Amino acid sequence: MTFVCEFCKRGFARENTWYNHSCEKKRRWMNRDTSQGRLAFQSWNRFHELSGMRNHKKVTQEDFIQSTFYGAFSKFAQHIIEIDSVNPRAFIDYVIRNNIPVDRWCQESLYQLYVRDVVLNESCEQALTRTIEWLAEWAQSNNMPWSEFFLQVNTNVGTMAICNGRISPWVLYNAQTVVDFLQRCTPEQVSMIQNWAPAHVWSMKFKNNQQDADFVKSMLTQAGV
Ligand SMILES: [Zn+2]
Repeated sequence: MTFVCEFCKRGFARENTWYNHSCEKKRRWMNRDTSQGRLAFQSWNRFHELSGMRNHKKVTQEDFIQSTFYGAFSKFAQHIIEIDSVNPRAFIDYVIRNNIPVDRWCQESLYQLYVRDVVLNESCEQALTRTIEWLAEWAQSNNMPWSEFFLQVNTNVGTMAICNGRISPWVLYNAQTVVDFLQRCTPEQVSMIQNWAPAHVWSMKFKNNQQDADFVKSMLTQAGV
């Protein structure tokens, strides 16, 4: 009696060697329930949905393991987790909808383009929710109220959070405590922030969406930000 690996079809005389045997596709199968494995599969699924390739047939984990795209989606999922992407699902959609070639998916410059797109196009509510969620995480790991972010944060960390899109300009330019933060920043940090989110562009946007801007301002004032 032989024991056959269902993934590579190799035969083994002993159950023990069959059980301990490892091959690429078995490794893929074992990896399916990790956060990376799940995200890779979700992205691949989404790729089928958006490109209309689903052919009425539901794609399965087994299909994915056999796919020539497995490596690319797996690497992309790893990248999304490592950079702790803003809205991971939206990043996946962005890459697929814009027909970005596979070899560019993990480039830093692509992520920057994506974040810029998110920040410019999201609604004021989305911006507010997303920013406050991030601030709440920051508050928890620093054991401080989130409303004190601009008063307490190290200016390097604050500048990065702004330029990586964690803090929307909706919040940045409508929070009263930002004055304190910008005063603590070096001229280089202020110019990085200016380049990322030019104040004149955003004040025009607030003027064109006066009700939203008033809402954000009053919400932040109430929260003491
Ligand atoms: Zn095998």
